[in-house]
Amino acid sequence: SIAVPGQHTRRYGGNTTCLEIRGEHDEVVILDAGTGIFPLGQQLLSRESKPIHLFITHTHWDHIQGLPMFKPLFDPNADITIYGPRDPVSGLDIRERLALQMDRHFFPVPLDRVPCALRFVDMSEAQQVHIGSLEVTSCLFNHPIVNFGYRVDDGAKKFVFTGDHEWPKEPHSLGNERPTISTSAPHKQRANSINFMRDCDVLVIDTAYTEEEYLTRHGWGHGTFDSSIKAAREAGVKKAFLTHHEPSRTDDMLDHVFQEALIRNQVEDHDPTFLLASEGTEVQI
Ligand SMILES: [Zn+2]
Ligand SMILES: [Zn+2]
Repeated sequence: SIAVPGQHTRRYGGNTTCLEIRGEHDEVVILDAGTGIFPLGQQLLSRESKPIHLFITHTHWDHIQGLPMFKPLFDPNADITIYGPRDPVSGLDIRERLALQMDRHFFPVPLDRVPCALRFVDMSEAQQVHIGSLEVTSCLFNHPIVNFGYRVDDGAKKFVFTGDHEWPKEPHSLGNERPTISTSAPHKQRANSINFMRDCDVLVIDTAYTEEEYLTRHGWGHGTFDSSIKAAREAGVKKAFLTHHEPSRTDDMLDHVFQEALIRNQVEDHDPTFLLASEGTEVQI
């Protein structure tokens, strides 16, 4: 995807993926470093300084491109830990891949020269990390490259983000010739993903495409309105925010295809609450 600032994306926002989870003791957990991390970085500098824990789902541009402009990187008092999966194909760990986009051809300050205290943690699948009152767990979600979804749990409430995600297909179905990272059967992958989301209070789920758009985009690694609604119902989530809006869609078009999907899927009161993710939204859970 790509950042799409402008008058047609003013309501839902034109930045790419970045979410912040704040724990009850003001722990700072950030999921992804798309261009949305730039305004977040400015905001963090105006708050009391806390260690920053940044979890990267995967290293496609729209999820890391804001990192070089993340102000706390340049604050000598900032303490940042970046977590993410190692790429099983290239073998590069998360630090090596993030350093690539700050190579001198692309950015004036290399990643190993930023003045903050910076650590990297290679996440493996189903790994748990404890950050104050929060527990963050990783889970492999289907995408053309390794992509971890993350669950943040404080013992009472659960939040899940899928990262980029296309529901895996049975091998005989149309358009499934692109390789995926997971070695397990599609129905097992699906069950694993649904289980990971099970009963969560808030789910943020990749919902890039309409059903019609998806016909020509199998294997691109994204979900649809129907696939997200189906999954949220199956997993019994309470509130589902649909995200990764297709960048050529205007706010008005987005409202339109969303309403159509709610009607087509006969979404009712007993269903999860479905909402379109919009930039700057704060949710108390
Ligand atoms: Zn991606
Ligand atoms: Zn993406």
